[in-house]
Amino acid sequence: MLDFNIRLRPEPLPDACIALRREVRAFLKDELEAGSFEPMIDSWLRGFDRDFSRRLGSRGWVGMTLPGRYGGHDRSQIERFVVVEELLAAGAPVAAHWIGDRQVAHSILRFGSEEQKQKFLPRIARGDFVVGAGYSEPDVGSDLASVRTRAERIDGGWRLFGTKVWNSHGHHADIFVVLCRTSPRGEQRHAGLSVLIVEMPNPNVQVRPILLMTGEHHFNEVVFDGVEVPDEMVLGEVGQGWRVITSDLALERSGPERFLSTYRLLVEMQRRADETGAQSARRAVAELFARLWTLRSMSLAVAISMDRGHTPELEAAIVKEMGTRFEKDVGEVARQIFPAEPFLDSTDPFVRHLAVAVMHSPAYTLRGGANEILRGIIARGIGLR
Ligand SMILES: Cc1cc2nc3c(=O)[nH]c(=O)nc-3n(C[C@H](O)[C@H](O)[C@H](O)COP(=O)(O)OP(=O)(O)OC[C@H]3O[C@@H](n4cnc5c(N)ncnc54)[C@H](O)[C@@H]3O)c2cc1C
Repeated sequence: MLDFNIRLRPEPLPDACIALRREVRAFLKDELEAGSFEPMIDSWLRGFDRDFSRRLGSRGWVGMTLPGRYGGHDRSQIERFVVVEELLAAGAPVAAHWIGDRQVAHSILRFGSEEQKQKFLPRIARGDFVVGAGYSEPDVGSDLASVRTRAERIDGGWRLFGTKVWNSHGHHADIFVVLCRTSPRGEQRHAGLSVLIVEMPNPNVQVRPILLMTGEHHFNEVVFDGVEVPDEMVLGEVGQGWRVITSDLALERSGPERFLSTYRLLVEMQRRADETGAQSARRAVAELFARLWTLRSMSLAVAISMDRGHTPELEAAIVKEMGTRFEKDVGEVARQIFPAEPFLDSTDPFVRHLAVAVMHSPAYTLRGGANEILRGIIARGIGLR
């Protein structure tokens, strides 16, 4: 008999969160009126705007859950959920602070030295610090323990050699957080890995663009060619890198970004369905909204569970697997009910969003752990493997 306990019970938002939501909505309304951004698809990946991130930081909406002594705001995961959900639903440009805010700040808080915490956390919380996650490599994505980037011991530190790929916003990065091998691979595949922090700019780091299908520059290949990293910039213990990068998977996988990447297209679909009055289109859109609401309740339940001190990795994997399939389906249903030639520069937001949603769709189920891998985790979590 299967024996598992999945914590995904829906719960209402506390009153404090409702007031916070109003505040964020008012801010976004002002920003939109001032023309500071155009609502966009996949804004947490494409919407790179350091000034916008700084404005969020000055309102206390970056590094929200970090302690006040490190520039944070001692807020809960649910409060962060509310802010993030509003920003993503509006299609606001949040990519500049995303990786630092969502996960790396927490790794530093948990595993970092006092010096690292004081040096990096306040800058992340100001929304003025770009973190590049240097994990994936050519031929190494899902099987991350096989990384070939290596660091050799030198006096007082490490010398780093290797190539990372699919690096989001590495061309803007203030630091790279690099998973590498610090001792040869033995029987224990996850042993001998470490995480090094590389401060930029650095003459021995080359950042080369890899363009998206849309022509946008988001990704990079990053080459570390003998970069010297002092001992003070090892994040966590030497040899404990696997633990460092996997400790915040629940944060990385369960948030509203795992089902809201195509939300602006859904809004445009609803507008079209209302305008045309076609029953079949309205039904299809309503079904998508029903799925969205379920996903949202699940994601919120994970945030609540984290606030209660749990580590809901299984639940987070479920949210991500289901949420990213939903994001893809939004584009597919859009094409079926309102056939249109996707055109990136269209003045019609539906056509424009459709083009981006379709061209970005291979990424939804890949980034942050491919769905096939997540299904393996879920199967193990419920005792099927
Ligand atoms: C938009 C985007 C942003 C990204 N940003 C970053 C970043 O900033 N930093 C970073 O380090 N990485 C980043 N990545 C890389 C991302 O983490 C990897 O793409 C992901 O881990 C998958 O690895 P891969 O691309 O090598 O695919 P592979 O691992 O080669 O997988 C290819 C296919 O094979 C399947 N597969 C692989 N292994 C198995 C298995 N054991 N069982 C069943 N199926 C399997 C996968 O599910 C997938 O469908 C980003 C990716 C995207 C799309």
